[in-house]
Amino acid sequence: ARQAALSSATGPGRTVDGHRVPLLANVGGPSELEAAVAAGAEGIGLYRTEFLFLDRAEPPSLEEQVRAYRAAVEAFPGGKVIVRTLDGGADKPLAFLPSSAAASAEPNPELGERGLRRLRRFPEVMDAQLSALAAVASEDLMVMAPMVATGEEAGWFARACRARGLTGVGVMIEIPSAALRARDLLASVDFVSIGTNDLAQYAFAADRRLGAVSTLQDPWQPALLDLVAMTLSAASEAGKPCGICGESAADPAMACVLVGLGASTLSMGAGALAAVRAALAAHTLAQCRLAADAARARTTAAEARAAARAHLPGLD
Ligand code: PEP
Ligand code: MG
Repeated sequence: ARQAALSSATGPGRTVDGHRVPLLANVGGPSELEAAVAAGAEGIGLYRTEFLFLDRAEPPSLEEQVRAYRAAVEAFPGGKVIVRTLDGGADKPLAFLPSSAAASAEPNPELGERGLRRLRRFPEVMDAQLSALAAVASEDLMVMAPMVATGEEAGWFARACRARGLTGVGVMIEIPSAALRARDLLASVDFVSIGTNDLAQYAFAADRRLGAVSTLQDPWQPALLDLVAMTLSAASEAGKPCGICGESAADPAMACVLVGLGASTLSMGAGALAAVRAALAAHTLAQCRLAADAARARTTAAEARAAARAHLPGLD
């Protein structure tokens, strides 16, 4: 019994009836790797690489980047590590780039040239990052782009990655247009990962940093669940994996709903892994599916949450 308790405290993610859902960590820098390993993460579902670029006068050297990416891969032998290319934006100015008039004075930075849009304008930054990732050359290393709005953008990113010999190329689904046309994005990549933080922000036109509109940021909002469900069914039709790396995956009941909707992996802050692992281990895939259907049948976030929980006994 002690062995079983131990393995459910740190073992692989699975439902009580054995449906596997690897539980991965969101990591924001090398100092978080150890905690992710200690919490039993099976890999990294989102390595935010902004720490290498922000607040410095010079871009990181190739060697510095290679060291950072290699350290992440080495922390998880046999586990996958998804490195996200730089998610810079007008609110995260990059001191080493010439600041253009447009980039320094965007009236709505969240709607501006952030993420992949910024990398397209400064391809030398992306080239260097992709070269460093290619130099690590591990089967377990995957790369994905943030803030991708269209299939054309996904295709452009995938071609740039493949030109450097990278395999395991994905994009984030965090803009409603990308969820609506997920099939178009999936056509050129190997996997997608849903970022529910930005997806909620853009679906509800509600700034994610503004407390006054936080009820619209609630991942239980049925419209958000619909966008997630739409993306997951497009991935399933394409036969490609779709993970979740937004904070919603850290809520144990929501994690069950996401699994019920077909998520192939869940990635979250290391501190949430134990509770999510325990929630999955206490319910069947059928219960997760019923909880997802029940939530989507409701019209408010509070009702959706209550309806899901009625199928997930033991979660509060
Ligand atoms: C997201 O938007 O859900 C996400 C995971 O990315 P970030 O929080 O880094 O924007
Ligand atoms: Mg995001």
